[in-house]
Amino acid sequence: MKLAARIGQVPPSLTLAIAAKAKALKAEGIDVCSFSAGEPDFDTPAHIKAAAEKALQEGKTKYGPAAGEPKLREAIARKLREDNGLCYNAENVIVTNGGKHSLFNLMLALIETGDEVIIPAPYWLSYPEMVKLAEGTPVIVTTDASGGYKITPDQLRSAITPKTKLFVLNSPSNPTGMIYTPEEIKALAEVVVENNIWVVSDEIYEKILYDGAEHLSIGAIGPEIFDRTIISNGFAKAYSMTGWRLGYLAGPVELIKAATTIQSHSTSNVCTFAQYGAIAALEGSQACVEEMCQAFAARRQVMLDRLNAIPGLICPKPDGAFYMFPDISQTGMKSMEFCNALLESHQVAAVPGIAFGADDCIRLSYATDMASIEKGMDRLEKFVREKTLG
Ligand SMILES: *Cc1c(COP(=O)(O)O)cnc(C)c1O
Repeated sequence: MKLAARIGQVPPSLTLAIAAKAKALKAEGIDVCSFSAGEPDFDTPAHIKAAAEKALQEGKTKYGPAAGEPKLREAIARKLREDNGLCYNAENVIVTNGGKHSLFNLMLALIETGDEVIIPAPYWLSYPEMVKLAEGTPVIVTTDASGGYKITPDQLRSAITPKTKLFVLNSPSNPTGMIYTPEEIKALAEVVVENNIWVVSDEIYEKILYDGAEHLSIGAIGPEIFDRTIISNGFAKAYSMTGWRLGYLAGPVELIKAATTIQSHSTSNVCTFAQYGAIAALEGSQACVEEMCQAFAARRQVMLDRLNAIPGLICPKPDGAFYMFPDISQTGMKSMEFCNALLESHQVAAVPGIAFGADDCIRLSYATDMASIEKGMDRLEKFVREKTLG
């Protein structure tokens, strides 16, 4: 079969391969500690489930508008105004099948052959692949631990060419957990405005912050950057709703209309009764978000203390999300070799950094219970000591 050339450019997900191997070991009855989760380990809060159940019982089981239930679009616009200082209305918002789908709609609506999209590495693994599927060119800018894995305004400026269309910003970041300070965001916004490019801000982890860290949405800085900003967000991480497939894209009406056209011919509306759960998530008490953050904060401290006590690993302290991204280069191994050996010899699942464009690192998720963290860190420590001491 001769498949389309566009698919030949896109590798299957590496993270899924390790996760599948971990699952297979578990199925054999082997006790695996998994730090590979890309989702919160909590159940969806009860009031959100109840709202979706009620909508289901009430017969909200038909097609709805492709851009989303009007009431949800209103609630999202209000959230963006009140939480983020972004002056959007319902017409600036489209409800999508998750934050991933928001970004995919955006790439299809904005990017064409020859367009360059600037992506700082380490990056969320789907960004470059989505750009390629839209027949654009990902331009990867490598950042390092000394700079907190953050792109500097100079790096951004140097990467811009006449073909640059879009810059992808993700703070807090998956995989590093780093966040850009308000000053850093302002400096990047200046470069975006000066060069008249677009920025998409993936804010899926905005609620998962530690030690008083502050999230500033780049579009809130002023009218000039607001006009060049697109926001991607969703319900998966903040409300532990990964399987619900609910996200949104916000931006200029022209873009939202284009994304709606794409959606109307591809997926149609997001599951109608699920959208009522999303309304409850936004309009109900936010205490559930706070509770999950507190649980993550305690685990983060334990994992970080344990990592820092392992000679040979270097891990900057993350301020958000639920990941650690230690550098493993002192062990002499690259990330795939490290993760395969760790899983096979000590039954700990981690994600190789090469999946995120950083082959000297691994990603550890602490979206798992404290006992598993302690046990897994014992094993990781033993593994690294054996490898480095020979
Ligand atoms: C999880 C995640 C998303 C979106 O996930 P959905 O489940 O599609 O809402 C987007 N960006 C990053 C960086 C993520 O980690």
